[in-house]
This record gives sequence, structure tokens and C-alpha cells, in this order.
Amino acid sequence: MTKKKAKEIIDVLDILYPDARAELDYTNPYELLIAVILSAQCTDVRVNMVTKDLFELAPDAKSLLEIPIEVLENIIKPCGLYRTKAKNLHLTAEQLVVNWNGEVPNSHEALKTLPGVGQKTANVVVSNVFGIPAIAVDTHVFRVSNRLGLVKAKTVEETELQLQRIIEKTHWTKAHHQLIFHGRRVCKARNPNCSECALSALCDYYKKSVKE
Ligand code: SF4
Repeated sequence: MTKKKAKEIIDVLDILYPDARAELDYTNPYELLIAVILSAQCTDVRVNMVTKDLFELAPDAKSLLEIPIEVLENIIKPCGLYRTKAKNLHLTAEQLVVNWNGEVPNSHEALKTLPGVGQKTANVVVSNVFGIPAIAVDTHVFRVSNRLGLVKAKTVEETELQLQRIIEKTHWTKAHHQLIFHGRRVCKARNPNCSECALSALCDYYKKSVKE
């Protein structure tokens, strides 16, 4: 895809979702980091329900570390994968306290040293709370980008690199949110609502399905 066509897609997304943003609830870097770790294979709505109680009990890394692991497992159980997530939350809290004075580090590399924090989580944190442009590729960004033809990628890593090449850096963070909004509302995994989609004229998947 050309940069010109990518820009046309971004322009439409800007009209559709001018206020696209993270749908996880958070008030500081610590809360966003914990919420994103919990969001693996879980909806943001459910994570928000769980973190509402969790952040009252554990408003910072030190207090999170003080919650017994069994209690923590119980609190986060609705998010699924609760044993692994509880272990990662504890280990992450410990590293924040020991190595970062209880604060969340503001670099991508440092964040990725924390247990349960991979490329996507690090990208979400740096872009949302530290203002560093990044395109976090989750299942929605991967699917919508490939369907539209913004990328032709088999992995999330390839998708991120190709999106970085074709989208202006100043728009990376916004585009990430807009692609997620579109994936959740219109371009759903099983039944994309192409007949109602404002991007159909620019979409490779749609053109192919019409031909077929
Ligand atoms: S036209 Fe269909 S496949 Fe393409 S972006 Fe819209 S909903 Fe998704």
C-alpha cells in the first residue's frame, strides 16, 4: 500500500473516531501497567471491573506486593489466567519496588524486563502515559490492518514494522486506538460489518469479497 492510500484510511479513521483512546480505566502509569497485564485474553470492561477493587486495595506497587498471592488470585480471577497473572503482578511489583523506587520506568527496554510485559504492553504504556509514539499491535490492530491492506503480515511483529513505515510517526498512537475502535465496533473478527463500513471503498478485503 502507498503512503497516500494509508493517509486516506487514516483520514477516514480520524473522522470516525476523533476521540479514540484506551478503554482501560487508569489514573497513572502504575494503574495502566497493571490493567494491561490483566487484559491479556480478557475484555477491557471486565478488567475495569476488577481493577476498580484492586486499586483500592493496592494503589501502588508496594501495596500490591503486600497482598498475599492467594488473595490476589481471587481478586483477579474474573480476568482469566489468574494464576499466571497473579504471579506476574507480584514479580512486576517487586521489581518496581526494588529497581525503580516503586515507579514505572519510562522506557520501552526497561518495561520489557518486567514479568508479563511484552512488546504490546510496553508500547501501550509508553504511548499512553509517557507520550512516546508507538503502535501496539493487538488482535484488533492485526486483523483490521491486514484486512484493509495497510499491511500484509503474518505476525504481530511484522504488522508493527509495516504500520510504522506507512503511518506518520505523529499518528502512531492515535492510529493504534482508532484501529482497535474500528475492530471492536465494525470490523469484527467473525462478521465484519462491511455494508456499514465507511472504509469499504479503501479496503482490500472488501474488494476481494465483492469480486468473489
Ligand atoms: S470493509 Fe469490512 S473488512 Fe474492510 S475494514 Fe470495513 S468492516 Fe473491515
